[in-house]
Amino acid sequence: MQKYEYDKLLNRAISSLPEKVVVQERFEMPKGIIFHEGNTTILRNLVEIADKVNRDVQHIFSYLLKELGTAGDIDGERAIFQGKIPPKKIQERIEKYVNKYVLCHECGRPDTKLVKINRTLILKCEACGAIRPIK
Ligand SMILES: [Zn+2]
Repeated sequence: MQKYEYDKLLNRAISSLPEKVVVQERFEMPKGIIFHEGNTTILRNLVEIADKVNRDVQHIFSYLLKELGTAGDIDGERAIFQGKIPPKKIQERIEKYVNKYVLCHECGRPDTKLVKINRTLILKCEACGAIRPIK
């Protein structure tokens, strides 16, 4: 009788633990593989970065073009930017993107979603529930 009660309590305690807490791991900022080719600058792992932060490739790419003030194309897994852009400048913009569109400002985790409420783009955290409008 007593044993049975104990197991029941234990099961209840385990099943009430949020899953996210158990599998938590530290977020690592994605690193761009960037080099120059003729008069263009290549970001070799654009698609990989987008996958890692769970965002749309086109969304990141458009942001980078705007921030860098240049034109470019997506070529398979890579982004090609017109002109010789210092790699450091591109890496900084990638980090800016992640801070703005991916990481939760409350808990610092990347488990977030972009949602549109009325006309405002909102970053919603699935780990802690925080919401923040993106300006
Ligand atoms: Zn959060």
